[in-house]
Amino acid sequence: MDDRTAAARAADAAGDDIDELASALRGELVRPAADDYDDARRVWNGMVNRYPAAIAYCKSVSDVRSAVRTANEAALPASVRSGGHHVAGSCIAAAGLVIDCSRMGWVRVDPRDRTATVGPGTTWGEFDRETTEFGLATSGGVVSDTGVAGLTLGGGTGYLSRKHGLAADNLLGADVVTADGELVHASATENTDLFWALRGGDGGFGVVTAFEFELHPIPDELAVCSVWYPAERAEELLSEFAAYQTDAPDESLLSPYFGQIPDDPACPDHGGEVGLCFSGTYVGDPDVGEREFERFRQGEDALIDESTRTSYTELQSDSDSGFPHGRRYYWKSVYVDELTTEIRTSLRRRAASAPNEEFSIIVWPMGGAVNRVEAGETAFRRRDTAFVCSIEANWDDPRTNHENVEWVRETAETLRDAGAGGPIPNFEGETDAATTNDLYGEHYEHLHDIKETVDPEGRFVGGRFDETG
Ligand SMILES: Cc1cc2nc3c(=O)[nH]c(=O)nc-3n(C[C@H](O)[C@H](O)[C@H](O)COP(=O)(O)OP(=O)(O)OC[C@H]3O[C@@H](n4cnc5c(N)ncnc54)[C@H](O)[C@@H]3O)c2cc1C
Repeated sequence: MDDRTAAARAADAAGDDIDELASALRGELVRPAADDYDDARRVWNGMVNRYPAAIAYCKSVSDVRSAVRTANEAALPASVRSGGHHVAGSCIAAAGLVIDCSRMGWVRVDPRDRTATVGPGTTWGEFDRETTEFGLATSGGVVSDTGVAGLTLGGGTGYLSRKHGLAADNLLGADVVTADGELVHASATENTDLFWALRGGDGGFGVVTAFEFELHPIPDELAVCSVWYPAERAEELLSEFAAYQTDAPDESLLSPYFGQIPDDPACPDHGGEVGLCFSGTYVGDPDVGEREFERFRQGEDALIDESTRTSYTELQSDSDSGFPHGRRYYWKSVYVDELTTEIRTSLRRRAASAPNEEFSIIVWPMGGAVNRVEAGETAFRRRDTAFVCSIEANWDDPRTNHENVEWVRETAETLRDAGAGGPIPNFEGETDAATTNDLYGEHYEHLHDIKETVDPEGRFVGGRFDETG
């Protein structure tokens, strides 16, 4: 039986329950026979091609509760979709019920308390637009149409994370519809185990219907660094970067990445070659930021320098065009405690062997406020690590699927052989049990126990803690 047929059969088997849900929803229910089913089951990553039994577009908490009850009554696995951006497509349960929260986007800012409460369908672009109106922001992702929900549940790194911690570290509380259909609040004082799991444990513990965040002042203008160098300089420059990073100010978020040097009249001979770009921002006084970045702009081999000043919201959408919906993507990540010679050389060599032009290998700095949170305080692991390397293949031609996926896998393996550690949830293309164990290590047992308490039937799949535990 093919996957489409399996989904249609699951929908038929759940017939009466699904019919009742369709009439109960304020939103909309899409089943396999519907004309818009194929559009509705698509996610950001064009590599994901799963067939759910139904997609419940929820508009309210009562819609979410109805959908959870239906999944229970019909014994359907349930997944939760908010921004639909996870590279593994974990928000689509094959032959299950997708509880779609994308129409539940709203933002309420309290400028006096410096907090924002948002619906699960909110994107970072929507979040930033509302909070910066009051000169405030929180740690969030660097592409504007990524969902606040999934990013926060997986930890969440961004330009503010060295200064203010992960997105999850700024979470003050969450409303959650649990597997039994009840609505509970989780915070530092209520349902504390669930709150712990929501901060870095990824999905699978319920449907979050509201997130409350702490906000911080953000300057009107930020210094932005963007300087390309030829790849041959990478080992030396990354060594300088590692030394800088040991006592860099928290405001500095400099993240070198390997990619293709853009075509630019300033360096006509290098466009299309693999290079290393020093990219990032300083989330404080832009004059100080520009002085801070000067050392990475003065190399005699600098090819293109597009460093500038910009607003936080512009910066937050500056990379959007590089990640269009429907393209093919496969990503993995590794932790790096030290950028040793072996790791720096591996990074350069693997970048040189990338099978397509739209790849990147990003060296994202942790440290600062991320590392000052106690190791066991949230479900996010490896507080003490210095960098996360994210290995990203982005392509269009389906005939090159295999080579792109293999390049990412081999690059992760090469870096791990050179001393790097396991992945982080938000940038991991696999959802298998071995990867889950690797993701959570010493936190695995605690997350497993919480999952058994809040979802004993294993109703929610697609997070890291589903039927595999
Ligand atoms: C272009 C792009 C840029 C990115 N940039 C960053 C970045 O800067 N920093 C970073 O840390 N990550 C980044 N990511 C990774 C991103 O954080 C994850 O992909 C995240 O899961 C996306 O959240 P979402 O709501 O869009 O995803 P979805 O695919 O909708 O959800 C992912 C998973 O989260 C869970 N989930 C979603 N909504 C809910 C909910 N309401 N209640 C309970 N569980 C839920 C589910 O288990 C679901 O399977 C980026 C991803 C992309 C594609």
